Amino acid sequence: MASEMLRALVAELLHRPDAGEGVLPEHNALKEPASSLTTGICGAVISGEPCRSPAAPGRALCPRHGGNATGPRTPEGKRSLGDAVRRHYVEARLAQGWLLPTEAQRVAVRALKQRLNGSHNATAAALKLSRHGVRRVLAGLPLRPDESSLLERWLGAAGARRNP
Ligand SMILES: [Zn+2]
Repeated sequence: MASEMLRALVAELLHRPDAGEGVLPEHNALKEPASSLTTGICGAVISGEPCRSPAAPGRALCPRHGGNATGPRTPEGKRSLGDAVRRHYVEARLAQGWLLPTEAQRVAVRALKQRLNGSHNATAAALKLSRHGVRRVLAGLPLRPDESSLLERWLGAAGARRNP
């Protein structure tokens, strides 16, 4: 009797429009969007219509739309791609409120690292910055606001020690 009721309840749940949530595993379209890797169709949209050619083996796109492309080969091409990636990274971080290190900060951190026998870890520890933070200062890449103000305070204190 009880099992019959349970079965009826499950059947009812399964036939509801929202059935599946927590009852049966369901394909989640948001987690696994149908990509051209799974469909095997290029799908590149060039002039409004998605391309229906088969994708190159193991690739998302057909050969005509870059499915066989392996990226830049010439030194100029590689440099150009690197520049574009770097420019995009910098612009995206600045848009998030990150700040470029000043030349004085770069010079001071470089000097500190030299004084610490070139040790990246020791430099990071001395500045209370992450290793990535130190790398970003030295490369002139944007810093998180907290990293930037940390450096500012450290430089201010160092300057005060030099000229009392
Ligand atoms: Zn195509």
